[in-house]
Amino acid sequence: MRRLMIAGNWKMNKTVAEGVDLVRKLSYATNNITSLDILVCPTFTALKSVSEAIKGTNIKLGAQNMFWEESGAYTGEISPLMIKDVGCEYVIIGHSERREYFGETEETVNKKLKSALSYSLKPILCIGEKLAERESGATERVLETQIVGALDGFSAVEMEQIIIAYEPIWAIGTGKTATPEIADSTQKFIRDKIASIFNSQLANKIRILYGGSVKPENAKDLLSCENIDGALVGGASLDADKFAKIIEAGL
Ligand code: PEP
Repeated sequence: MRRLMIAGNWKMNKTVAEGVDLVRKLSYATNNITSLDILVCPTFTALKSVSEAIKGTNIKLGAQNMFWEESGAYTGEISPLMIKDVGCEYVIIGHSERREYFGETEETVNKKLKSALSYSLKPILCIGEKLAERESGATERVLETQIVGALDGFSAVEMEQIIIAYEPIWAIGTGKTATPEIADSTQKFIRDKIASIFNSQLANKIRILYGGSVKPENAKDLLSCENIDGALVGGASLDADKFAKIIEAGL
């Protein structure tokens, strides 16, 4: 039985004070929930304060991105050591917005994943197809390329630490959610791919989250699918009540 994870990706939202306020409200609303993992991924500037605010709660901390080197002349970048230093246990890697606006490729995603694992950070690897790719029947080919590229050179032991988030790009921030049937069957394809690269025992253990306009109204139907092991939530994670309702839908 895979443990569900409900993760909030705050993207470029919330000042430090707003972020702290959000996790205080969230921990109040969810403080007796221990049967699933609750994760927040604030901006870099809010990580330290949010880390302090969630001490002693059931909320875990992740970063939205990182560079693969530990330190050096990389102006504007943040290293795995730095995000660990402020209390991150998880890190999102290869979000479609990073791929689209900041030139991330399979190669940089692969380097970041390797680096995260070497710092004992648990990566959440994002993959997903564009609308035109879905409509032209290219979804499986696109996902396969992303999976094979991202996981190049990984052992089964390393793969066990990685969480995958399937995020169809056409569903991110658009209000258009994939139907539970589309999300579940695509996530089954991803799990089968992991089984063919590694083995089926490992594929059955891997958590695959769904992301793309998850909200309180659709969370239960999505989270009850066999191949959906949680949600990566953008917009709705910025509101403590909405995010708490999505978490409750996973109970
Ligand atoms: C995301 O950015 O990971 C995401 C799924 O966003 P939203 O929930 O707003 O679609």
